Amino acid sequence: MQAWNKVSRMPSAAIKKMQDELFVKMLREEMAVRHPHYRELFKEQGLNPEQIKGIDDISQLPFTEETDLLPREQDLRHPKRFVLEIPGESEQKSKKKGFALFGRKDKGPDPFDYKFHTLYFSAGRTAKPVPYEYTHYDLNNLKEAGLRAFDILGLTRDDTMINAFTFAPNPYFWQIFYSTIEIGCTALQTGGGKVLGLEKILKAMDSMEAPVIVSAPGYSIFALQTLEHFGFSASNLERVIFGIDYAPMEAVEKAARLMEKVSAKNKKIQRIYFVSEAKSGWAECEPNYGYHTNPDHILIEVVDPVSGEVLGEEEKGEIVITHLDTRGTVLLRCKTGDIATGGLTTEPCPNCKRTVPRILGDIEKKAYYLELQGKEGPVQFNGNELRKMMIARDDVLLWYIEIKREKEQDQINLVFKGTSGSDENKLSTLLQEQIENKFKIPVTAQNTTLDAIVNKIGLEKYITEQVIFDNR
Ligand SMILES: [Zn+2]
Repeated sequence: MQAWNKVSRMPSAAIKKMQDELFVKMLREEMAVRHPHYRELFKEQGLNPEQIKGIDDISQLPFTEETDLLPREQDLRHPKRFVLEIPGESEQKSKKKGFALFGRKDKGPDPFDYKFHTLYFSAGRTAKPVPYEYTHYDLNNLKEAGLRAFDILGLTRDDTMINAFTFAPNPYFWQIFYSTIEIGCTALQTGGGKVLGLEKILKAMDSMEAPVIVSAPGYSIFALQTLEHFGFSASNLERVIFGIDYAPMEAVEKAARLMEKVSAKNKKIQRIYFVSEAKSGWAECEPNYGYHTNPDHILIEVVDPVSGEVLGEEEKGEIVITHLDTRGTVLLRCKTGDIATGGLTTEPCPNCKRTVPRILGDIEKKAYYLELQGKEGPVQFNGNELRKMMIARDDVLLWYIEIKREKEQDQINLVFKGTSGSDENKLSTLLQEQIENKFKIPVTAQNTTLDAIVNKIGLEKYITEQVIFDNR
């Protein structure tokens, strides 16, 4: 990665030129040479990397699906096929010789950059976790991405922070961990609900007088609701930073309302969009200005999720990732399964003026676009929409749905816990009617105890909660 003060102010034409160069270098010198999967694939498909002159030619290359990376039953080491091999000694010597002719000091690739450091896994609870190999080179990039995200968020070493991301081998917790170390701020790495538990996290927020909490959206909203329920205030709290799970604007607005109720000093809410495939997360300066990406690290395309056609600026589509400057696991045109509702823009950010490409709108999970069987044929159900609708409500504390099939027809069972003071019987009827009207599928709704829901959705157990269970 390059100097952030340069990259973040580069005109879009210069960013494109930089990406052309990085991409061609990555493709020819890494993927075609020491990437077992792509090296073979290019041969099999008769693709000549020398003919790819820049990112405008990228659509000639095949996509990678996340399932391509999963361990096989017969071959648990299959994900290794996406990891760059360590360059041999002969390669370094021959490179040295070649450059020596021009009097340049290029020692060729440094084997240490390729040396395995650690594995971080994707967070998916519905999908199988995918292992991504990081080398020390990638670890440095993760730290740099973290520092950039903090710069975009406007965090400094004077901030005191509670890192409430779940402790696990994933890039989310560790990016925040390394950023707090690198920036030198005061931080409590709680490990999240799974490690420290909600009560202790809330106590720490109070005793450390921490103005900043970083957590999954569902978790901080629940924490704020808990404070409100017990009549506690959070007068030191100034900002909440959402990450890991998708945080639509409904979550931002709800958290702002709750911060008001618990007398927070300020009501700043910001978001980071973590993409396991990108081996890092991207921050947003202010809500709705889009996630500011790192063009010297990752190339982003937005494509039609069905046809794979590359879409224009600000067109809704699936986010596709190509690595421009990584080691360890390396990906070419990897489909993430994430949909950017506002697409991608290369226009400078109207708020902070940084010029890096931004991902706009809400992020939706493609896995939540389901086809259900209604009374009169198939119905397209967008679980992301239901999630937004439920997050927006102030009368619902926690919830989940189960989709069931009976006699070849699907049904949604909503299970919820209302906030204190809500009439749960009335709420039950209301929710049933509203969801049924919106999604045209039969719905049943029932309330249950707090413990039952917390356990079912895994609020204190998993990296992030699961609210849609497709049991068909
Ligand atoms: Zn901005």
